[in-house]
Amino acid sequence: MHHRCLEIRATKSKGRGVFATAPIARGEVLAHMQGWLATTAQLDENWFALQVGPDLWLCSDGTSLDDCINHSCDPNAGFRDGQPILVALRDIDADEEIGWDYSTAMAEPNWSLVCRCSAPTCRRIIRPWPDLTPQLQERLRPHALAYLRNDRVKPAGR
Ligand SMILES: [Zn+2]
Repeated sequence: MHHRCLEIRATKSKGRGVFATAPIARGEVLAHMQGWLATTAQLDENWFALQVGPDLWLCSDGTSLDDCINHSCDPNAGFRDGQPILVALRDIDADEEIGWDYSTAMAEPNWSLVCRCSAPTCRRIIRPWPDLTPQLQERLRPHALAYLRNDRVKPAGR
């Protein structure tokens, strides 16, 4: 289930992305993330997988709209109440790309992603939640999934 004013389009440098086809107001629900649940051991490399718990993933075959929403270091979308439901964090213009911060749904120690979001605040390398600075965790916590929001453990070495 997703907002009726969203569609998948090609981006300049990131493959597919999801764009607003009309203005969307802050607070509106953009997408309920879709899929089936699996443990880490059950994961298949061909799946799209969103980490929704310490050993729990919401998996998809990559064909649903929410699979195509890219990461942004300056996101206009984030999770509501710790649930895998994306809402607009601010008013979104028509033709604006939707983005959420992938660190708000990832705790796997060795995961990283090169970012091409072009935001002035771009972190260049996107890392899992436990590797973020305490300051960044504090900023992102309101829109992170529940299992990360409740994680007050400081990363090793900081
Ligand atoms: Zn970035």
